Amino acid sequence: MRLSSYFLSVLKETPAEAQIVSHRLMLRAGMVRQCGSGIYSWLPLGLRILKKIENIIREEQNRAGAIELLMPTVQNADLWRESGRYDGYGAEMLRFKDRHDRDMLYGPTNEEMITDIFRKSVTSYRQLPLNLYHIQWKFRDEIRPRFGVMRGREFLMKDGYSFDLSKEAAELTYRKTALAYLKTFARMGLTAVPTKADTGPIGGDMSHEFLILAETGESAIYFDKSFTEDTDFSDFPVNYADAEEVKKYYDKFTGMYAVTDEKYVESEFHAAVPPKKRAQGRGIEVGHIFYFGTKYSAAMGAEIALKDGSVIPAEMGSYGIGVSRLVAAIIEANHDEKGVIWPKTVAPFHAVLMNLRPGAKETDELCETLYAQFTAAGIEVLYDDSEERPGAKFARAELIGFPYQAVIGPKGAEKKMIELKNRKTGETHELSPEDCVTFLRKELDIYHLPQAFS
Ligand code: ATP
Ligand code: MG
Repeated sequence: MRLSSYFLSVLKETPAEAQIVSHRLMLRAGMVRQCGSGIYSWLPLGLRILKKIENIIREEQNRAGAIELLMPTVQNADLWRESGRYDGYGAEMLRFKDRHDRDMLYGPTNEEMITDIFRKSVTSYRQLPLNLYHIQWKFRDEIRPRFGVMRGREFLMKDGYSFDLSKEAAELTYRKTALAYLKTFARMGLTAVPTKADTGPIGGDMSHEFLILAETGESAIYFDKSFTEDTDFSDFPVNYADAEEVKKYYDKFTGMYAVTDEKYVESEFHAAVPPKKRAQGRGIEVGHIFYFGTKYSAAMGAEIALKDGSVIPAEMGSYGIGVSRLVAAIIEANHDEKGVIWPKTVAPFHAVLMNLRPGAKETDELCETLYAQFTAAGIEVLYDDSEERPGAKFARAELIGFPYQAVIGPKGAEKKMIELKNRKTGETHELSPEDCVTFLRKELDIYHLPQAFS
């Protein structure tokens, strides 16, 4: 992509309303624009990041055996009356009437709708287990939307729902999902700490929240230091078909104890974690999983016939990831005073190509060569072909946070050499165009061409 034909909307001034660094940087770099309280447009740069995050989540969900579908944002109130949550949900639910005077709502979550889909098509034990998810916008009329997309009113969520025949089978699905979550966040360069959570209004008896440690986090977290110090996901099983193996890894990772709820601190955290290992901090909740048994299936008649002819309600769980919140959370965990430092896997572009002397034959030619080679090799590059002075180009590149900067100035162009800088480490290499492509392909793990966004 050439900057001259792209839509980038970088702000010079720091917007006064932004209280935390991720909100400031998202506005300044032109990732989002506010449209109303807690409601944002995703500008092209921000959308690329959102899609990268979405795709990592999708890949790991699919790998864990979940199946994607897409439910609508607008729901009929009747389903919620069946589960008994229509009145109970309160002011967070955005309610309205259609032209026929029917009560409608903008979905804050989808337990009722998925249970309805399930009961209309699944009747036999042969069709289970089933784990369905979608990635869809939600609306919650939060009392205090703040920090940009961190706590919005409209936000993107991956929400998954599982159906099993027995408590044991449902626990296996729950554990698999917990492991898939750890892997999902690790692929985004994040260490998400699984914490034992209160099951709250959804009910049930197994629940974990996944928190990214950050000073600006809204939740207090009490955790075992070993989780952030020696957690190594490298021996994570790729396919965990075996229940025992799943349990082994699940116990290993969730056993490194963390809690957010005060009420577990004395009774469980202190009992499990020796004083030297205890740490306290703040965290951003990026995921939340529940096993809640037959709460919705029993209320809504989502029943399955077993082999012996008896009929039971399905055992259910639900699993959420805050997709749009993750953009902000990743920035909170990866930035410096100049701007964002994107992990390679979620960066809007892998590299920026900077022409330090646009209009000069040597630099223009070398830039065009490299731009063509990057593009052909599947390296996502934004070519800064603007007429601005080098200082302005560098400042913009650091603000946006491309993992690599390929810099072409008059001296290098004479020798046909490129200076490649790593945004995170500051390391630079002088490379020929061919070596630059080979180096980046290796660094970025590009073995096949990406289908979208090249
Ligand atoms: P919170 O305690 O932050 O309000 P929640 O418990 O209400 O979260 P869930 O219903 O479990 O959240 O939703 C799943 C995920 O969706 C959360 O873990 C979070 O990452 C994200 N999320 C929830 N509310 C918002 C919001 N208002 N804005 C952005 N993301 C959100
Ligand atoms: Mg909430």
